[in-house]
Formats: sequence, structure tokens, C-alpha cells
Amino acid sequence: MGFEVKIRLEDIPAEGLELCLRDAGVRPRELGSQVGKIVAPPQASLRLRREGSMVLVTGHYQTRLHLVCSRCLAAVEVEVSGEVDTAFLPPLEDAPEEIRLQPEELEVGFYQEGEIDLALVVRQEVSLALPMAPLCRPECPGLCPHCGRPRAEGACSCAEQVVDPRWAKLAKLQLG
Ligand SMILES: [Zn+2]
Ligand SMILES: [Zn+2]
Repeated sequence: MGFEVKIRLEDIPAEGLELCLRDAGVRPRELGSQVGKIVAPPQASLRLRREGSMVLVTGHYQTRLHLVCSRCLAAVEVEVSGEVDTAFLPPLEDAPEEIRLQPEELEVGFYQEGEIDLALVVRQEVSLALPMAPLCRPECPGLCPHCGRPRAEGACSCAEQVVDPRWAKLAKLQLG
């Protein structure tokens, strides 16, 4: 058990390999545009198994992140965890025909120069698990479109100034 990020195919013994990974080098944007900060970098315990020219990577990952609320931009701390289940194949030009025709549901990657980047495998799983438009709470009222202040912090003075143009006309008539 070590903290590996990349693994060479020839380092995977016939009986398979188990290892732990801690992706301390990942930057928020590499996980998704909705990630503001990495609270605890992705960690995974993975099992690697060779089957002919194919390498199966299975296991479990977890990480703790600050997501940015898509309405009010507040930080939302979330714990993200899930399973890894990916088959790695040789680069396409080397692959025999029967390996190119994989069932659609199987997650497939390709190893490059005899090497699998396990950090990348985990980063992809984390990205896929994140909500596209995170919310700090389901009923988040968002920001005032005029001054940008979070509406949850109470009414801003713009609320009174923004008047429906039809009412503005009426108010003018009444004044005149
Ligand atoms: Zn919000
Ligand atoms: Zn405002």
C-alpha cells in the first residue's frame, strides 16, 4: 500500500494490486467549474487487475469540497464519494478488433505509453458526481440583480427603486 498517482502496467503483478491514492496536487478547476475550494483532496483505495491487455480499476473514492452556489455564489461544503469501475485498454491503434467493440455501459479509458494515471481516473469520477448547478439550499433566493447583494441577507434599497415602468407612468400622471 503506497500513495501512488501513476502506475506502470508492468508494476501490476498477476495477482493484482491494491493501493491507496491521495491526489494532493489537484486544483479546484480540474474537478469542475462549480468547485471553489478543495477542503480534503480526493482519496481512493483502488484495486488493479490485468486481464490480457486490459486493466480493470475498481474501488472507492471520497473527497470534501466547497462548491459555489449557482444562485448566490456562497460556498457549500459537500462530501463527495463513490465507486470507481473503469476498464483501461491499450491505445486504439494497438487494440485487436474485438476489444474496440465494447458494450456502451462499460466505462473505458486508454492507457498511454504503458501507464495509467490513477489521479485522472478519480478526478473524472468526482467531476461526474458533482451537481451541474449546486445550491446552498433548495430555496436559495439568489442575488439582487441590481446591487448583487444576496437576497437571503435581507432586502436591499434597490427593491424600492425598481418600479414597473407602467406604474412609473401612472405615478407621473398623479404628480402632474
Ligand atoms: Zn445560494
Ligand atoms: Zn439590490
